[in-house]
Amino acid sequence: MYSKNKSFYNTQAWKDLKAYCYERDKGCCQRCGKFVFGKRAHHHHKVPISVNPSLKLSKRNVITLCPRCHMIVENEGKTKKNTGFDWKL
Ligand SMILES: [Zn+2]
Repeated sequence: MYSKNKSFYNTQAWKDLKAYCYERDKGCCQRCGKFVFGKRAHHHHKVPISVNPSLKLSKRNVITLCPRCHMIVENEGKTKKNTGFDWKL
């Protein structure tokens, strides 16, 4: 499922964007507000790449999340079938 975007997550552009967002969010999860230590921080696309690939490097589309919230947010996204988008990543 993730293989399609695997190369993207290895690009320097994505790593730079993650570093930028981590600093912008002060290393805090944007859902629960908890500080997430650098290596544990997850970065989440508010609009999934599969929905709008042009937003994959948009700073506004990427937020810092803790691993727990990331899982919750991803699951919430999957249930929003009624929006007409294909939310699976
Ligand atoms: Zn959190």
